[in-house]
Amino acid sequence: MATELLYLDDFDVLNASAKVTSVTVLDDGRLDIELDRTCFYPRGGGQDWDTGTIRSGDVTVEIDEVRLDENGTVHHLGQPGGPTEGGPAVSEGADVVLEVDADRRSLNTRLHSAGHIVDLAVERLGLPWVPGKGAHYPHMSFVEYSGGAPEDVDDVRRRIEEEVASIIQAGSHNEVRFLPVAEMGAYCRHVPDNIPPNKPARIVLYNEAFGVPCGGTHVRDVREVGALSIPKIKARKGVVKVSYAVEGIN
Ligand SMILES: [Zn+2]
Repeated sequence: MATELLYLDDFDVLNASAKVTSVTVLDDGRLDIELDRTCFYPRGGGQDWDTGTIRSGDVTVEIDEVRLDENGTVHHLGQPGGPTEGGPAVSEGADVVLEVDADRRSLNTRLHSAGHIVDLAVERLGLPWVPGKGAHYPHMSFVEYSGGAPEDVDDVRRRIEEEVASIIQAGSHNEVRFLPVAEMGAYCRHVPDNIPPNKPARIVLYNEAFGVPCGGTHVRDVREVGALSIPKIKARKGVVKVSYAVEGIN
């Protein structure tokens, strides 16, 4: 059963109540908990999963991994604390309380949004690159484009770095819109043809102008990202890889 994804409408929801729809005990002793709704972000789109707790009565499960399956069901995996005798510590049908680790979410959100700011800078500079994949992890943050290698890589690197600084300094008002994939082209420079069918189609509009088809969590204002630098650009075999770093994170 598809899980209702509370973070899609509102990135600020970090606490919620939910009902357990299924519990499985995994080989490693962790529980795999499915819920009717969740505010936990599952790994996807280059953004890492949330961690946090799911509480059922006096049992607290420390959630250390969250995944979305092809049916749109979110799996919350974690080790239960408290009494464990007599079957799974959390039972199907139970009402539970969810709490997402706010610091980790904020860090992942800022890193992820930073990737879109790089993309906005690339568009503003008129670089003829088509966005590809990205990774927004503390140990690895980059966005990739298909396109030719620029003649002067370091000059392009410097120009992107200046542009992202001016975008962040100007600030923004970002908002969420749900709309069919066929209509995304009106707001987004590029709409990938592999938009996952297992969650509602959504774009996030940066500053009411720059739309990104994306299911991740985003900052409301680009100023929340902080200082963003471009340490490296590598171009080979028609792929340009722009690595970026957010001050205080990576
Ligand atoms: Zn994104």
